[in-house]
Amino acid sequence: MTTFEQMIEHGHERVCFHQDPESGLRAIVAIHSTVLGNALGGTRRWCYATEADAVHDVLRLSEGMTYKAAAAGLPMGGGKSVIMLPKPRHQPTEAEARAMGRFVDTFNGAYIAAEDVGVNTQFVDWMAMETNHVMGGETVSVGGDPSPYTARGVVNAMRGSLSQLGRPVDFSGVHVAIQGVGSVGYNIARILHEEGATLTVADINEDNIKRIHSIGDVTITDPESILTTSCDILAPCALGGVIDGKNASKLRCKIVCGAANNILDDPDEDSVVVKNAGILYAPDFVANAGGLIRLAGLYLGMSEGELNQKIEDIEPTLRQILADAEQHGMTAHAAAIKFAREKIEEGGKKSSVERMAGGQSA
Ligand code: NAD
Repeated sequence: MTTFEQMIEHGHERVCFHQDPESGLRAIVAIHSTVLGNALGGTRRWCYATEADAVHDVLRLSEGMTYKAAAAGLPMGGGKSVIMLPKPRHQPTEAEARAMGRFVDTFNGAYIAAEDVGVNTQFVDWMAMETNHVMGGETVSVGGDPSPYTARGVVNAMRGSLSQLGRPVDFSGVHVAIQGVGSVGYNIARILHEEGATLTVADINEDNIKRIHSIGDVTITDPESILTTSCDILAPCALGGVIDGKNASKLRCKIVCGAANNILDDPDEDSVVVKNAGILYAPDFVANAGGLIRLAGLYLGMSEGELNQKIEDIEPTLRQILADAEQHGMTAHAAAIKFAREKIEEGGKKSSVERMAGGQSA
């Protein structure tokens, strides 16, 4: 499919390409929707096999951001950007980040950048030297690393999932398998360990495996077998597309609830396989909204109390979606998309002043 055909099929408003010869930057910004407000979404630095892969990734990530913001009750749209690296683990430079900042600035706030895979607070602050439309830095821009907030939100989604299965909302003795203990996965492990969960984790990064031992007793397994570990909750917290047609029927968990964006490779098909296997799937864009809530909330001027409440609200929002799915015989993924689209339709009828005043609530 051409880029235009993909945009038309998924309803994207804008996709822009940019190259900067001096820094070598090659980047794409995709704005999926600004119906509810400006689009906030992270910048991913990744070495894609082909340009088509980068376009595909930015299109689906930006669409996910629209649903994430809407489901979280934020008056924000959905957008995302990717930087195409010339080789894996290509080191970031100030020149690259500042060129990206200038690109982001051309959107005049319709797109607001932040962290994603491969981008840290330093990179964000370098971008912020060129634009005000960046969140998540520590010196030039504000917000800091959103990962601890994303982790809190995912744990709240795990609570909602346990409750939906009629189980005690208590992690004591609950076995959680975490794929990827990077920024978010580590924080999820830390919270769950404090709450008495039994943890099995895997990561391809040795340093992150070493770091996880600092939280206490954790079982390490190899990256190949983490997804099929027998457990209560499987938490994919690495990259997207990890549950697909090949492994969806081989999972040995009761719940899938993680931080990764686009956990299901083909959400429409894989969500049916997962549901038919008797596994509860917590839609990723509902579960992992904590970081967006933090950064978008600060951007919108919310108080700490309001921000924390919105992260707590992930649990009842997820329960509402899962109950709707059960009542109507839908997959959780379909019910979450329906929930988000209803919010967008509702919010789209309001003026931006009404939306900012909180008329669009979770
Ligand atoms: P990160 O890069 O800090 O961590 C990812 C970890 O996964 C790394 O430690 C990496 O080594 C590991 N990994 C990669 N491939 C693996 C494999 N095959 N098996 C096991 N481990 C593997 O990224 P992060 O910020 O923790 O984000 C994790 C996921 O959550 C990403 O998909 C991201 O898009 C999503 N997400 C993050 C946030 C956030 O606030 N950081 C918010 C929403 C969604």
